Amino acid sequence: MTTLLYSHASCIEHNPGEFHPESPDRLRAVMSGLDNEEFEHLEHLEAPIIDVDSIKRVHQSEYVERILDNVPQEGEVHVRLDPDTAMSSASGEAARRAAGAIVNAVDQIVDGKAKNAFCAVRPPGHHAESSRAMGFCLFNSAAIGAFYARAKYGMERVAVIDFDVHHGNGTQHSFEMDPGLFYGSSHQFPAYPGTGSSDETGVDGNVVNVPLPPGAGSAEFRAAYNDSILPKLRRFDPEVLIISAGFDAHVDDPLAQLQVQTIDYSWVTEELLKAADECCDGHVISLLEGGYNLSALTASSQAHVRALMAA
Ligand SMILES: [Zn+2]
Repeated sequence: MTTLLYSHASCIEHNPGEFHPESPDRLRAVMSGLDNEEFEHLEHLEAPIIDVDSIKRVHQSEYVERILDNVPQEGEVHVRLDPDTAMSSASGEAARRAAGAIVNAVDQIVDGKAKNAFCAVRPPGHHAESSRAMGFCLFNSAAIGAFYARAKYGMERVAVIDFDVHHGNGTQHSFEMDPGLFYGSSHQFPAYPGTGSSDETGVDGNVVNVPLPPGAGSAEFRAAYNDSILPKLRRFDPEVLIISAGFDAHVDDPLAQLQVQTIDYSWVTEELLKAADECCDGHVISLLEGGYNLSALTASSQAHVRALMAA
């Protein structure tokens, strides 16, 4: 069955500044890797602009308005929100389309028009807190998608699995008091943003953190899923599975020190799809988070999407 591929030109135009690792070239690298015969059956969709009320399910109203009101005009200098998070003139639209992709994917999948989707979007989202931009992130698209699935379709259990090398502090904080939401993350620890210790377990164990030491590779990464995240995800039994797909645990990534291989992204995607098959008819929506070595990002996102298409 069909795999949807969401993206939009504004998500490439969003530019946090020259020499910033979260560069427009990242999304170009992902999209060029998916622009060949092997991926010709992907159904390409323009990521729509999300309505502001859907963002406000996760983020405080004043925060959303402050972000959108402070997007610089064309040609103006960047607006800096924290030491490593900034907006250019395209950033407001890009952030609204990144979150718009995931809510539209929820609609398409619930309507039976597709089995799974990959949202090739920027800016990333998993560090964005309810009222704080951080770590290159403005709006928490994964959390917005989860809250939307519950509000629109009455889903009682929604899960986000996050294999980005950094802990998704924003997603965890949006989920940790709500037993109808599940957040599972593998990440380097210690590393930015400093959260994600294994004793952060939420309510009723709905948060599962598997911190991995710098230098850990395929064996430790796979064990995190086999021993902890996958069994707990199956027990939670989600009605839809959202993946925060960051590819910066890759051995070649410059921002962290894990040694995950491209093939591990095929593996983890296949394993998550198997769990989703058992729990929720394989309904999986994945969205791009980090990944800063361009060739590793191309290969890893190809491996991920190849597995989604084979499901
Ligand atoms: Zn990351």
